[in-house]
Amino acid sequence: MTIHPNSIEARDKAYHLHSYTNARALERDGALVIERGEGIHVYDNAGKQYIEGMAGLWSVGVGFGESRLVEAAAKQMAKLPYYHTFTARTHSPSVELAEKLIEIAPVPMSKAYFTNSGSEANDTAMKIVWYRSNALGKPDKKKIISRTKGYHGVTIASASLTGLPNNHRSFDLPIARVLHTSCPHYRAFKTEGETEAQFVERCAKDLEDLILKQGPDTVAAFIGEPVMGAGGVIVPPAGYWEAIQKVLKKYDVLFIADEVICGFGRTGEMFGATTYALQPDMMTLSKQISSSYQPISALLINENVYQPLADESAKIGTFGHGVTAAGHPVAAAVALENIRIIEERDLVGNVRSLSPKFLARLKSIADHPLVIEYRGVGLIGAFELVPREGFAAGQLGPKLFGYLMEEGVISRAIGDSIAFCPPMIITDEQVDDMFDKVERGLEKFAKELTA
Ligand code: PMP
Repeated sequence: MTIHPNSIEARDKAYHLHSYTNARALERDGALVIERGEGIHVYDNAGKQYIEGMAGLWSVGVGFGESRLVEAAAKQMAKLPYYHTFTARTHSPSVELAEKLIEIAPVPMSKAYFTNSGSEANDTAMKIVWYRSNALGKPDKKKIISRTKGYHGVTIASASLTGLPNNHRSFDLPIARVLHTSCPHYRAFKTEGETEAQFVERCAKDLEDLILKQGPDTVAAFIGEPVMGAGGVIVPPAGYWEAIQKVLKKYDVLFIADEVICGFGRTGEMFGATTYALQPDMMTLSKQISSSYQPISALLINENVYQPLADESAKIGTFGHGVTAAGHPVAAAVALENIRIIEERDLVGNVRSLSPKFLARLKSIADHPLVIEYRGVGLIGAFELVPREGFAAGQLGPKLFGYLMEEGVISRAIGDSIAFCPPMIITDEQVDDMFDKVERGLEKFAKELTA
């Protein structure tokens, strides 16, 4: 890329520190400038069109350029651009959204609490777990278990819950009282000759052993994504969640379902909890709640969590927690309109009806000699490349990602897996278009490797 000194790329290099980016590589190579979006497509500043095969960050469910969300934002902006929800104030967008979320929740929930990001929602979940244990007179019941390769965010608490090395290394994380149990990726972690059912049993036993080793009276909660996203699109094997939930119930451990990616249709049901018959006590929601048109997240809590919290707040005099933009009226109005669109256009039905094709195309890619496995459910999936001599683990994925970009498809390289999570408005033809391009990119990549 040639970069003109006054270009947006040059100014970006000069002034902007990027998330999840090698800062030295950015100084050298610059960033890709995305200028606009329409439907499932985005366009860079040279006019090149890409299929946004990741819906941004697993999030733009209704696609780009949705005018109803623009209008909802403008209307609310004109009426009440901001008000807070501290000290017993409220406004109708936050009330309506809370009511809507409780109405569509897959299990009985009591209250919705608003934050701005998935990280903050999970941070809040963790604080509420501690607050509740204190309220119940169990000050030692504070440990939280998540999983290796789980992703729950980047704040000090939520990054600790995240089970990925890049979120811990050099940040001095995880913090105390956060523990990690095994990841349910059968192919990667099965032992010699172990069946899927035996693997599931072992995952549940690992969790039980950890709880017993720590002491059940010290373990307060478990957090998990119904399907692991950023860890590589890891779809749990059959029976996994049933076995895990049995252990949680046995030791009185709360279950927090992190639905930040799965929520609002991604797995072919409104929530991943329905797809996998989960009975969470708390749920964190973000991303497709507003299709990322506005930053907003929500934490749903059931009565079992709410009642002690309410008692404790009465004892102390306040629930001393909250961010300035919690339940922001513009973000809440956009989220509400977004959920209306998902319902009216039956986008969850669209995910269900296109899923067989989406998965069949991934399966056929997995027949390629370079590919070891595909994984997926609904409209979220990935294929993984066979390790190759001369390449360190995690080197092949980013290389193939580059080939797919050239073909005009934005995917995500997670190590040597290539993930897809397209906008839920995608059509049958567009699924084919995306994977035709992916296959062309894969062929070119294969040619380079053998050359
Ligand atoms: N939980 C999950 C499952 C996520 O995928 C993410 C974001 N990728 C988060 C939490 C954190 O959300 P945010 O980036 O909005 O803080």
